[in-house]
Amino acid sequence: MKVTVVYDNEITKAGLRAGWGFSALIESEKAAPILFDTGADSPTLLDNMRELGIDARRIGIIVISHAHGDHTGGLRGILEVNKEAEIYVSASFWGTIPGEKVITVTEPIEISEEVFSTGELKGIEQSLAIKTDKGILVMVGCSHPGVGEIIDAASRFGKVYGVIGGFHGFHDFSRLSGLSLIVPCHCTQYKSEILELFPQQCVTCGAGLVLEQ
Ligand SMILES: [Zn+2]
Ligand SMILES: [Zn+2]
Repeated sequence: MKVTVVYDNEITKAGLRAGWGFSALIESEKAAPILFDTGADSPTLLDNMRELGIDARRIGIIVISHAHGDHTGGLRGILEVNKEAEIYVSASFWGTIPGEKVITVTEPIEISEEVFSTGELKGIEQSLAIKTDKGILVMVGCSHPGVGEIIDAASRFGKVYGVIGGFHGFHDFSRLSGLSLIVPCHCTQYKSEILELFPQQCVTCGAGLVLEQ
């Protein structure tokens, strides 16, 4: 299982571009690549993919965590080069979805053999539970439902060992103790506090970060 951050407020690799938003690619041997969120704009997303050697035409599934523009902005650009991808949106999604194969998510569901949606939480956002050899890696967009609530929801798929994505204003830091991997990205307001509290568990996020689990 390989996770590559494609779009983030920060970069970890020269040659990539930063932007206010989030997108990450999940690759495994068992299924076509899954793109989680699409950042705020197509040019940055597609440029970063090119730079990272990711072929947008190979993406089989696109999951959109929630309808905010910093997660949906690159969708149109991806769909111009890849019309085949299935798109999973949470039930509260508003606006037109430019794709042809759109699946609306309310309840927890299996998206591919090792990737599950928590279902839409608090009427706004879905997150992913990714099965790895180490346990469940939770991938979040903005964490509007709350990081703790999302971890609880993802626990139905197995023991959560890590979380990656935007944590927004989350500051109930005790909810992170016990995790072995913490990757605060994008909109995380208390990034420096989290890095200070969990130096062993934290990995610095940014476009170009690759996690192999
Ligand atoms: Zn948001
Ligand atoms: Zn966001």
